[in-house]
Amino acid sequence: MPQLAKRMGRAKPSAIMMVADKAKQLKAEGRDIISFSIGVPNFLPGDHVYAAARAALEHDSGQYGSNRGADALLDAFLQHIGAIGLEGYSRANCAAGIGAKHILYNLAEVLLDEGDGFAFATPYWTSYLDIGEILDADIQLLPCPPEQDYKLKPAQLDAALARKPKLFLFNNPNNPTGMVYSRDEIAALADVIARHPDTWIVTDDIYNRMVFDGVGYHNFVHVRPELRDRVVFVDSLSKTYGMPGWRVGLMAGPEVVAKAVTTMNSNHITNLPEIVTAAAVAALSGPQDVPTAKNAEFQAKRDQVMAVLDAIPGVVCPRPQGAFYAFPDVSAAFGKSHEGKRIDDDVDFCNALLEAKGVACVPGSAFGEPRSMRISYTCPTEQLQPGLQRIQEFFAELR
Ligand code: PLP
Repeated sequence: MPQLAKRMGRAKPSAIMMVADKAKQLKAEGRDIISFSIGVPNFLPGDHVYAAARAALEHDSGQYGSNRGADALLDAFLQHIGAIGLEGYSRANCAAGIGAKHILYNLAEVLLDEGDGFAFATPYWTSYLDIGEILDADIQLLPCPPEQDYKLKPAQLDAALARKPKLFLFNNPNNPTGMVYSRDEIAALADVIARHPDTWIVTDDIYNRMVFDGVGYHNFVHVRPELRDRVVFVDSLSKTYGMPGWRVGLMAGPEVVAKAVTTMNSNHITNLPEIVTAAAVAALSGPQDVPTAKNAEFQAKRDQVMAVLDAIPGVVCPRPQGAFYAFPDVSAAFGKSHEGKRIDDDVDFCNALLEAKGVACVPGSAFGEPRSMRISYTCPTEQLQPGLQRIQEFFAELR
């Protein structure tokens, strides 16, 4: 039998999906499971989105569409990002893809050759590592432990960019930590970036509408517009609009990059489906009451999560200000036992928590931080408090 390509030796299935699958299996066996594992928003888009999709179905052209994305979609995106201060871009700066994951993969393909430096902070969204490994990039991890609130410091970035990586990928608000960089923090990092002209910057900011406490969303180009010739902004409809399965991601950046991503699209996907495009246009340009209401709900849930985590002795959790994740350091439990089962690391911890209490969380090692675990608090509201209480009980029962 012929062999698979060598890159498949480096490609792994998603660790998050593995936890979600185990939780599903236990549920199917009749266990009472509360899942804090998968990062799906758990709400549906507004009626106008479905109406637009139905209308598109009625008027389906049956044709292939634009490799870059339909003009109506790009225009709606331009208007949408204009509202967060990303102005002055045109269609030629943009491209659409099958979700931000696809856009990020495309970007890595068009910006990185084999062996090129690819820098990003830990904790990271799991796919960054997978994409870098599949493309055989030289991955440079920048550790941001809980002691520094999981945030990248300017001096750290300076040292990393001095090695001239081809690509620095930045994620704000952050998955898995929920951290959001303030305008001052972004400005300090942007000053560093300005001193290192050899590196492309991709900002994966798909949670940019999901920020709490009035902190606002800030991008490097807000504070240093001259960086626009090497910063690529990535967005997605998945989380903001409750549309993860519709698969719409978008980018805005230098024309040369948008053109390259369009070329990749022409080889990979040809176009986004017409019905999906119509739904996306409606979501971006229609009433914003669903995302606005959901953001308020997520902020209230964040408060509930933090009230419990802050009360557990030994647990340290930098306070999230965006997305819908909390990332507590649970290493105080390592070396202890629960009902006779020894917990040596984050994987033992999450397994024991799932077995004993029916609460599914994702081990931090999936995100490059093995002292922590990720709580995704998008579950139905009535499950949140019971799930948190079970985590609290679990800690109290450690010996
Ligand atoms: N980037 C981050 C930080 C994410 O958390 C996710 C999804 O969880 C994605 C990108 C991918 O989003 P999409 O559903 O648009 O592919």
